[in-house]
Amino acid sequence: MDKLDTILQEALAAFAAVDTVALLEQAKARYLGKSGALTELLKQLGKLPAEERREAGAEINRAKDALEQALRARKDAILELELQRQLASESLDVTLPGRGHGSGGLHPATRTLERIEQLFRSIGFAVAEGPEIETDFYNFTALNTPEDHPARSMHDTFYVEGGDLLRTHTSPIQVRYMMNHQPPFKVIAPGRVYRVDSDATHSPMFHQVEGLWIDEYITFADLKGVVADFLRRFFEQDDLKVRFRPSFFPFTEPSAEIDMGCVFCGGAGCRVCSHTGWLEVGGCGMVHPNVLKHVNIDSQRYQGFAFGMGPDRLTMLRYGVNDLRLFYENDLRFLKQFN
Ligand SMILES: [Zn+2]
Repeated sequence: MDKLDTILQEALAAFAAVDTVALLEQAKARYLGKSGALTELLKQLGKLPAEERREAGAEINRAKDALEQALRARKDAILELELQRQLASESLDVTLPGRGHGSGGLHPATRTLERIEQLFRSIGFAVAEGPEIETDFYNFTALNTPEDHPARSMHDTFYVEGGDLLRTHTSPIQVRYMMNHQPPFKVIAPGRVYRVDSDATHSPMFHQVEGLWIDEYITFADLKGVVADFLRRFFEQDDLKVRFRPSFFPFTEPSAEIDMGCVFCGGAGCRVCSHTGWLEVGGCGMVHPNVLKHVNIDSQRYQGFAFGMGPDRLTMLRYGVNDLRLFYENDLRFLKQFN
């Protein structure tokens, strides 16, 4: 029993000397563990005379309680100390913005469509829309393309049940517009169109934008001016060359293909323009009198022009993208570049 006080003092000193929970546990084992100093003392109680045993046992238990209380206090102190150390070593800036809230961006095709709309609105064009599932009349017949017309085979059409079809061009929007408005008017019709076609430069779904200007004295010169001016503003090149090549469409007469100088080689010739210096970007022409008759517009009094272009192709040329399919694969690594 003489040792009890020494053991108690040693243990308290040992607890105070350590500064981690692991070392504290080791110190605890040395005094209160299965073969700890205090536990050994308790085991020897039996050797004492019976009259001293009771008193000694109580004394050892008091020492044990005191040690356990000291342990708990030391453990709390060490945990507090560790927290302080951690706070001091790590810096936390509570004013930083949260993570994981990346902002999205408009799809390149949408950006192009919005840009086209903005440029045409700035010169007084309205913007019209229409259904993507169309009837044969609006997609073909009203556009001077009757049932047995060979031009129908130029379009590989998706048909839906009941004889309707997915529109193969945005021209039906113009037909609907002409039926519901009296000239003069100028309007563009952007939207999705569908054809049975799929490779690096063709997608079964793609975009088109068509324009229409009907008035009493509209000429081919107006057509050339509007289209060339649009392309120069779209590509931000004031000296961009634009040319018109004779062509055929059932709904315009005369008709022309629209070419512009290659934006990649400046007309010198490269792979993109097949070494011609020119890029084909659309078709156009003066609206065929038969089309005006179909929508009850007096073709003796009114005339005008129509044009159609591919916004997807314009997007590829503007951003230097060489595969149309990239626009529809939704690969964020590609799309993020347009944010
Ligand atoms: Zn070129």
